[in-house]
Amino acid sequence: MHILERELTYLPGIGPKRAELLQRELGLKTWGDLLYYFPYKHIDRSRLYRTTELTADMPFVQVRGQFVSFEQMGDGRKKRLVAHFTDGYGWVDCVWFNSQQYVLKSVKLHTDYILFGRPSLFGDRINITHPDVDPADTLSLNKMSMQPYYQTTEKMKKAGLHSRSLERFIGTLLQQIAPGSITETLPAHIVSRLCLMGRDEALRAAHYPATAAELTQANYRLKFEELFYVQLSIQRYARYRKGTIRGHVFARVGEYFNDFYTRRLPFALTEAQKRVIREMRADMVSGRQMNRLVQGDVGSGKTMVALMTMLIALDNGYQACIMAPTEILAEQHFDTFRKMLDGMSVRVELLTGMVKGKRRMEVMDGLRKGDVHVLVGTHAVIEDNVVFHNLGLVVIDEQHRFGVAQRAKLWEKNLTPPHVLVMTATPIPRTLAMTLYGDLDVSVIDELPPGRKPIVTTHVYDNNPAQLYRGIDQQIREGRQVYMVYPLVRESEKLDLKNVEEARLHLQEIFPRYRISMVHGQMKPADKDTEMQRFVSGETQILVATTVIEVGVNVPNASVMVIQNAERFGLSQLHQLRGRVGRGANQSYCILVTKYDLSKDTRRRIDIMTETNDGFEIAEADLRFRGPGDLEGTQQSGIAFDLKLANLARDGQIVQLARDTASEVLDEDPTLAMPQNRIMVERLRYMKRDEMDWSNIS
Ligand code: ADP
Ligand code: MG
Repeated sequence: MHILERELTYLPGIGPKRAELLQRELGLKTWGDLLYYFPYKHIDRSRLYRTTELTADMPFVQVRGQFVSFEQMGDGRKKRLVAHFTDGYGWVDCVWFNSQQYVLKSVKLHTDYILFGRPSLFGDRINITHPDVDPADTLSLNKMSMQPYYQTTEKMKKAGLHSRSLERFIGTLLQQIAPGSITETLPAHIVSRLCLMGRDEALRAAHYPATAAELTQANYRLKFEELFYVQLSIQRYARYRKGTIRGHVFARVGEYFNDFYTRRLPFALTEAQKRVIREMRADMVSGRQMNRLVQGDVGSGKTMVALMTMLIALDNGYQACIMAPTEILAEQHFDTFRKMLDGMSVRVELLTGMVKGKRRMEVMDGLRKGDVHVLVGTHAVIEDNVVFHNLGLVVIDEQHRFGVAQRAKLWEKNLTPPHVLVMTATPIPRTLAMTLYGDLDVSVIDELPPGRKPIVTTHVYDNNPAQLYRGIDQQIREGRQVYMVYPLVRESEKLDLKNVEEARLHLQEIFPRYRISMVHGQMKPADKDTEMQRFVSGETQILVATTVIEVGVNVPNASVMVIQNAERFGLSQLHQLRGRVGRGANQSYCILVTKYDLSKDTRRRIDIMTETNDGFEIAEADLRFRGPGDLEGTQQSGIAFDLKLANLARDGQIVQLARDTASEVLDEDPTLAMPQNRIMVERLRYMKRDEMDWSNIS
């Protein structure tokens, strides 16, 4: 057994009780686990101050000197132990509210100590409350230059396990492992070419660096390794799939496509739309399965790209299907497709949870026989009992609602898996895309249809609605329509309903002559649909809604998006909502209504929204704010990346380097058969040991 696989109880200082606590609270079982439990920060302890230099605004300081006397002061909850400490130049008072007996017993007077803590001013004297106290002889200053701090939990603290304890355990651990005996996990040619620190050295330095620069180097090496193996396994799998999994060959561009393109297309495609369609055509004649992600900002015209790609499938005698994340969206696509394809001999059907009974049987029957050419639907489409005659292409709209596992289900629908086109309007920052969708080829629609005016976004406080209402009135008089969106109240669906219902009544009072639709999550889909249709057809001027309308809804005549309680939305959600307007030729407005008292973060979010319309910029900002873990889609993606050090938001350059390096390695040695690359095969195998092998399901 390798030394790092030893159980924690074999480490001096850790008995069964502590071992159990460490496992329960932090999931640490083995020496290796502990070694990979990295500190969240280091504090530079290389400098000693004189007591006379200390001021209350210093963060952490250390001084060297002796305790001269103890004094117990106050009573009740204020009871405290004060120790007077001097370094021969001046004085510091140390204060303890807890563990007073312990301090009295263990700290000796007139003996050299090093104190470490945060100075504060009490009256005219410098105080340090609960300082770290170390005997000056054992604590060699140059060894202790950078002190690691480890996250602990409440339960650990109660049991007396603090950051300091972990520091000690890891110190002991590193002493027990002979220097140089932690094996290298990256091939030598990569380590030397990229000038990386060796693994043994890096793991030690990540805990106990001699200098800040050494810490940076150690972290760099360990982050690179994490990201490299993620990239290597994604890319190895993607290449394997490309090499072995066959795809339908869509050699023809025939009547459906040409007829539509020359006679029915209501506008000229943008160059970006044309380019993306060309890229997909190339995929679909290659003989391999297409797996392509099309990113395009809201309103960039992804639906048309999807439709035309589907026509290519039809031209080659295959069926196509498109999945949307909500019923509203599915119905909208259904309507759009039916209108666009009207007069062509294409049978388009809708399949959602709402399609029931006889109707459902008819659709299913048509799918099985091949009479239905295009199926539009929601998740219902991937249910096991939906059988296609020959499904050639699947389009997944607004990908972030569909998990990797769901994507995989589609593959089982045919012997040869259908081509897959994934469309997303939530621009994914590059580094995240490389990791989450590293196995997909990516196309970008980086151009909006001509004539769009950038949406004007403003921020107003909720204490002056009169002005807002005047603006709305003005727009409706000009023939436009208005969205009024309220946040979902997660805790109470009833409250939700109350919110939008009250808002609707209130608005009706203010605008007695306008008609108002309302949609929210608690409505029956059929009612939702009716209300939505009234807005789409222009019968109603105002749509009051919760975020059910967030994704994809297309009403080009709507020019105002009012977002109430905008402080309660995340950036990408705000951007999605804003994308509902600005779809026609008219100047559009997005009005973010917030309460007056905003946190700093919220204010910055709102500022970003008013400053830019660029979805990619917003996505980057979103990633910075929230970290990748929170991003919609990462949880549902079904990919559990166990990144301990690397941060997809902050380490973009390392992600890129890892990706490039992995791809160079595989270019040269696709099966990792060369002797110098063996180490990687072993590492990949080791990493997959107790993890779900997610590469098989993407
Ligand atoms: P999204 O990319 O957000 O899904 P849609 O596909 O809903 O955008 O398109 C938004 C609007 O732009 C629709 O009304 C659509 O008909 C229109 N549109 C798409 N492509 C073009 C184009 N090339 N020229 C003009 N309008 C277009
Ligand atoms: Mg769309």
